[in-house]
Amino acid sequence: MLRTFGSKKSRRLLTGEYPRCFTAKLWQHLTERAHISPQKRWGELSERDRNRLCAILTGDVYQIEGRGKNKEEFVTRGGIDLESINLTTLEARRHRGLYFAGELLDVDGITGGFNLQAAWSMAAVVASVLN
Ligand SMILES: Cc1cc2nc3c(=O)[nH]c(=O)nc-3n(C[C@H](O)[C@H](O)[C@H](O)COP(=O)(O)OP(=O)(O)OC[C@H]3O[C@@H](n4cnc5c(N)ncnc54)[C@H](O)[C@@H]3O)c2cc1C
Repeated sequence: MLRTFGSKKSRRLLTGEYPRCFTAKLWQHLTERAHISPQKRWGELSERDRNRLCAILTGDVYQIEGRGKNKEEFVTRGGIDLESINLTTLEARRHRGLYFAGELLDVDGITGGFNLQAAWSMAAVVASVLN
């Protein structure tokens, strides 16, 4: 991601094109930690910017200050697009024999059991399909 892009990608903003293992909020935090405006384009990054960003991504240290507030324990949003899944069997449309269940799919609900129930119910669906 940090290598020099071709002309099309180098015109993209850091806010639009970033490693999808990060949430948008975390990515913004990391770029700010590296003193880079997230409104910059990839092609505008100097070698120093890139080095600072690499240093933050690989070596930043955080002090744990405590637990999050109650009611923050929601599922992580995002995940595998439901369009790419057969919702009856939970099999990947493009990869026969590959099934998904639980939070890695793009589903989430309010906490209080819905996410756990979704994970268990989907697992039961896949188990019944495979049996
Ligand atoms: C603090 C907290 C509180 C929550 N409270 C609630 C609640 O009250 N009610 C509710 O409904 N939901 C709650 N949730 C959400 C709920 O726990 C999740 O939605 C649910 O556990 C998802 O189940 P899952 O099996 O899909 O994923 P997970 O439970 O995350 O299981 C994934 C498993 O895969 C393993 N794994 C990951 N990578 C690899 C790998 N490369 N190779 C092998 N194994 C791997 C992980 O170690 C993990 O054991 C809470 C979540 C958190 C964090």
